[in-house]
Amino acid sequence: MRVFQCAVMGSGGVGKSAITVRFMNGSYLEWYDPTNRKQLSVDDQPCLLEILDTAGIDQYLTLNDMFIRESEGFILVFSLCQRDSFDEIIRTREAIQRIKSPEMNQDVPIPLVIVGNKSDLLDEREIDSTEGEKLALNWNCTYYETSARTASNIVPVFEDIVRQLRRNDLIKKQ
Ligand code: GDP
Ligand code: MG
Repeated sequence: MRVFQCAVMGSGGVGKSAITVRFMNGSYLEWYDPTNRKQLSVDDQPCLLEILDTAGIDQYLTLNDMFIRESEGFILVFSLCQRDSFDEIIRTREAIQRIKSPEMNQDVPIPLVIVGNKSDLLDEREIDSTEGEKLALNWNCTYYETSARTASNIVPVFEDIVRQLRRNDLIKKQ
């Protein structure tokens, strides 16, 4: 079975691990292995998704370059309650493009999902939905608002990246 490799990236504290654990185990804030493989069915077709939960671009710059090289799809997470983290995903995408673009065919987009996490913290919001949507429109990718805490919208994020990865497989076959 095709194994799709995808990296979860974004500043420290935005909820990358919480989102990954929620998706893997269906639980909130439990220990788990940072390289996660999960079999899932998307559009009635099974696949294996390997999720690399990274530590935050600010902390391990060279490690991040390695993660980017090894990954085919990217889930860029920011916190809806932290403006800095929104700015950070813009820099992260620049790094992804710098590293990936030379080896990519121009017709094959880099699979990318933007995630605004902590949607449960309504009173602390600093980024509104239209800003996230606008960025996704700009980058020609998708945008989800999630809460790892309440399990809101987590699964659709991972299904979306699988669909994008499959689409690229089809394009490459042509
Ligand atoms: P990481 O550094 O990006 O991996 O972030 P973590 O997953 O370790 O989460 C950082 C902090 O944010 C923890 O204290 C979590 O409890 C909290 N957190 C993560 N996701 C959510 C969420 O959806 N809602 C709320 N309210 N807190 C969250
Ligand atoms: Mg973490």
